[in-house]
Amino acid sequence: MFEKTGIPNAEMVMEKFPSIERINQGAVAVVECYKEIPCNPCQTACKFDAIKVGEDINSIPEVCFENCTGCAVCLSKCPGLAIMIVDGSKCSDKAEVKIPYEFLPLPAEGQIVKGLNREGRHITDVKVLKVLNPKSFDRTPIVTIEVDRKFLYEIRNIKAEV
Ligand code: SF4
Ligand code: SF4
Repeated sequence: MFEKTGIPNAEMVMEKFPSIERINQGAVAVVECYKEIPCNPCQTACKFDAIKVGEDINSIPEVCFENCTGCAVCLSKCPGLAIMIVDGSKCSDKAEVKIPYEFLPLPAEGQIVKGLNREGRHITDVKVLKVLNPKSFDRTPIVTIEVDRKFLYEIRNIKAEV
């Protein structure tokens, strides 16, 4: 399935997530890099030694969740849009998720938008909490959404309608 569609199955996704205990402690990166490709800006961007690609630039990055501060610098530097930040520390029934979003128009803060899974299917509506788009992000804006926890492992994108 993955080889044909590029869409990871649930087991592959879960292997990239930290424990729910770590998610509940605060923001942390989920790095959904599944293929061996020559790429490492995530490692270069991280000042906390939390992502390691290592000497072989084709290696799949490994994340040290304990070192990760959830700063999201790696998110805006990843050319594959493979990284999101999850934070379960704010609320018992909702989580905050930061995603890279390169479509226009950008959603507005406070807007309710469609939450999409990895197949691009609408699974729930989510609230946009923040939109960051400084020049230093190099045209990869970061959108923070609030999502019902039951969709935490499924949510991957949004669709903002005008
Ligand atoms: S979110 Fe920040 S601390 Fe965590 S891996 Fe990315 S750059 Fe490193
Ligand atoms: S920058 Fe993104 S695509 Fe490149 S290795 Fe890191 S996570 Fe994978």
